[in-house]
Amino acid sequence: METTKQQQLAIITGGGSGIGLAIAQKFVDAGILTIIVGRDQEKLNQAQATLGSLCIPLQCDLTNLAAIPALVQQVLQQYGRIDILVNNAGINMKKEFTEVSDDDFQRIIKTNVTAVFALSREVVKYMMSNGGGSIINISSMASQYGIPKVIAYTASKSAIEGMTKAMAVELSPKGIRVNCIAPGFIATDMSAKALNDDPERKHKALDRTPMGQLGAPADIGDAALFLASDAARYITGVVLPVDGGNSIGF
Ligand code: NDP
Repeated sequence: METTKQQQLAIITGGGSGIGLAIAQKFVDAGILTIIVGRDQEKLNQAQATLGSLCIPLQCDLTNLAAIPALVQQVLQQYGRIDILVNNAGINMKKEFTEVSDDDFQRIIKTNVTAVFALSREVVKYMMSNGGGSIINISSMASQYGIPKVIAYTASKSAIEGMTKAMAVELSPKGIRVNCIAPGFIATDMSAKALNDDPERKHKALDRTPMGQLGAPADIGDAALFLASDAARYITGVVLPVDGGNSIGF
């Protein structure tokens, strides 16, 4: 008789909206118990109402670094395992280089880099003791080529790609695969803010996208589900552009 495979558990930060919500949808559809983390309880509740009982909302501001170990312990105590971590939560800020204050810069780095490190560290402690897991980070076209007016965001996403490689070489021998998705221009609130009031930027983004259109959040969801799955069991340390060709566009 076949043994039933134990139900997997994933944590998706920023799973209440945009790309994170689309990743959560794909995970739930695949039968993965999916914890979505964000600051806004109402947003999380709405996502849970859409995603159903395999989705569990957990409110936490990840810039509150001191709260992260307790968050991971809470998940482990209540659900007993963590198989997949998707570090998707992120913030952007479009400002002229000389207008960016030190506080602005630190705010972006804290959310997009420091919190990713702190949460990954706590989850990895468990994954190591459990024989493995899969971590997926989210970077951006801002770390594939230069984009003006997003200096802190670019620094943060370049850090994410470097961290992906450093984590992959250190953690893969322990059974933890670490990969990164570099989304192109994907239709979400974040990209709407950056592009809709700036037709020239939008034109430029689409002009260098060979497929000629913005991506859908679900396109990133499919890539994340693949990277998290056994189908990607020999893949670690990669940065996978899911971008309609934007990163290689002329
Ligand atoms: P959204 O703004 O829709 O989603 C960002 C999510 O992050 C929100 O759900 C938000 O939830 C959460 N979040 C932000 N700060 C915190 C925090 N301090 N603690 C916990 N959660 C937080 O943006 P996208 O879906 O577009 O972006 C998702 C990821 O994809 C980001 O990392 C972004 O940089 C990246 N990306 C997006 C691209 C695009 O074109 N859209 C392109 C390339 C990369 P809440 O408000 O509840 O805290």
